[in-house]
Amino acid sequence: MSQVNPTHTVTDDISSDSPPFVQSMLLAGIILPMVGLVAAMVLAWNSFFGPLDLVLLVVMYLICGYGITIGFHRYFSHKSFNAPRWVVFMLGFCGSMAMQGPMFWWVATHRKHHKHSDQEGDPHSPHAHDDHGFFRGFWHAHMGWLFHSSTAPVGKYVQDLKADPMLRWIDRNSTLCVVVGMLIPTILGGLISMSWMGALTGFIWGGLVRVLIEHHVTWSVNSVCHLWGAHPYQTTDKSRNNVVCGFLALGEGWHNNHHAFPTSARHGLRWWQFDSSWLIICAMQRLGLASKMRVPSTEHQERRAKVRPDEPDPVLPVGGGEEPHQAA
Ligand SMILES: [Zn+2]
Ligand SMILES: [Zn+2]
Repeated sequence: MSQVNPTHTVTDDISSDSPPFVQSMLLAGIILPMVGLVAAMVLAWNSFFGPLDLVLLVVMYLICGYGITIGFHRYFSHKSFNAPRWVVFMLGFCGSMAMQGPMFWWVATHRKHHKHSDQEGDPHSPHAHDDHGFFRGFWHAHMGWLFHSSTAPVGKYVQDLKADPMLRWIDRNSTLCVVVGMLIPTILGGLISMSWMGALTGFIWGGLVRVLIEHHVTWSVNSVCHLWGAHPYQTTDKSRNNVVCGFLALGEGWHNNHHAFPTSARHGLRWWQFDSSWLIICAMQRLGLASKMRVPSTEHQERRAKVRPDEPDPVLPVGGGEEPHQAA
């Protein structure tokens, strides 16, 4: 349970009464270290950072990233499509390699976020800390919430997942998955370069730096995407569609779309809203690795844009598909 003020509601929008320079400073706090990291890569090029390290960084970022976006989020949290068992295992394993916590804890925290979004009980809302001001609200949403003693009661929110022995194994062995995620770039770096230095830089860039970048990008969906961006759908929360997060977070930045249609496998609903996770799911479907994807129809989207904010999240129909799981 996060430390929230029980009297606070979403109607108190802390972003509206915060000085622009404070908001700019916070954005700079996220962007500048990333710029610094890119600068360090350029300066270290062909010494401590080379083409192989860049490939390992990008490939591991995508493998672990899609494990989170397609696996932990769209499949396990929202059941937005169906998949064969071995694909489900791979999604769980790759998501666990991202070092964002055991699967059950991740899913429970996220389902709780949807249930209480930007209200009392939301584990990581920048708006549920009215007495802390904008800076602390932002800090709490980005990563401060991780340091609260209990962020989500796991059992209550993931009974469906806990019933599956395979998923219990993945959840229990999340540390093993993280280790494998570190070993893959280390071993590949060493074997391809045939050097210990290649193994070391593979570990640093494909392992440690990849986790650093991916963590901040994921946390930005919780913080940035509840503060800055477009709000086309009248949801009860302050979720936003943020273009930058849309790209970096592999489609997860179209966050207002997602809060309006939580069970949709597609988050970038317009043609220009690039959603690489959705493109991967479509490719998986062509290969027989995904089916029965849930996506809102045009009429459904138009209706959702006009309905009252307190109307429950719609359950998306899918031809012949089973009813999707609803967040507890
Ligand atoms: Zn959200
Ligand atoms: Zn979600």
